[in-house]
Amino acid sequence: MRVALVTGGAGGIGSAVCRRLAADGVTVAVGYRAHRAEAEALARELGGAAVLCDVTDPVSVQKAVDNVLEEFCQLDILVCNAGVAWQGLLQEMDDGDWRGVMAADLDGVFHCCRAALPAMIRAKSGRIVTISSVWGVRGASCEAAYSAAKAGVVGLTRALAKEVGPSGITVNCVAPGVIDTAMNRHLGPQALQALAEETPLGRLGRPEEVAEAVTFLCSDAAGFITGQVLGVDGGFGV
Ligand code: NDP
Repeated sequence: MRVALVTGGAGGIGSAVCRRLAADGVTVAVGYRAHRAEAEALARELGGAAVLCDVTDPVSVQKAVDNVLEEFCQLDILVCNAGVAWQGLLQEMDDGDWRGVMAADLDGVFHCCRAALPAMIRAKSGRIVTISSVWGVRGASCEAAYSAAKAGVVGLTRALAKEVGPSGITVNCVAPGVIDTAMNRHLGPQALQALAEETPLGRLGRPEEVAEAVTFLCSDAAGFITGQVLGVDGGFGV
């Protein structure tokens, strides 16, 4: 049996990751911040657990990891999926907005990896998958903080892969393109259509397609892959 903690597990990509990992026989802890009812319903559906895990708060993250270890006695997979977006001109962004993006999108990955690693190091095995974005690789106009945080996730992934490789732990990153989830719905149909047209494959991605890549990186088939960034973006990042 393998046990996974998926942060933001009740969201669009997160819930697809939880379902796909569970289909592979993984016991899933669905991390949530605000959407407790959705996380609990998903955990019931999958036979896992819902755990409060506000990734901006190191105490909440440590408690979440402790709860998983208490309930399941192991933690084999960590998927750092929780994230927020912020759009606007950089010169109009105040300190709180900047900190909010950094806290969720970059500090959150740090908090989660730090809390999960001791159990993985003890087990001398583990899989960590971080979720960056094509905007962390290419840079997006009006999303400077998001791009900076997501680029930071790429750097953290590569560095941590080197650091914990000797302990049998792989650390990889998935960089989605434009995926059809709540995070993008505020853009409206015209902007989404334009983004689909800008994507070489001519459409938005589905959360399930990101989940396939995450699950692959957690599988035995990916045992010799670490420190990599896998774009799931229909060619957007090329
Ligand atoms: P959703 O808005 O559907 O999900 C975001 C999830 O993040 C929610 O479950 C939310 O939980 C959680 N979350 C936000 N802040 C926190 C926090 N402080 N602590 C814990 N959880 C938090 O968006 P997506 O599913 O699209 O996004 C998932 C990831 O994929 C994000 O990291 C995003 O940046 C990344 N991504 C998305 C792309 C897209 O086009 N959709 C493209 C590239 C990357 P809750 O609701 O409980 O607060």
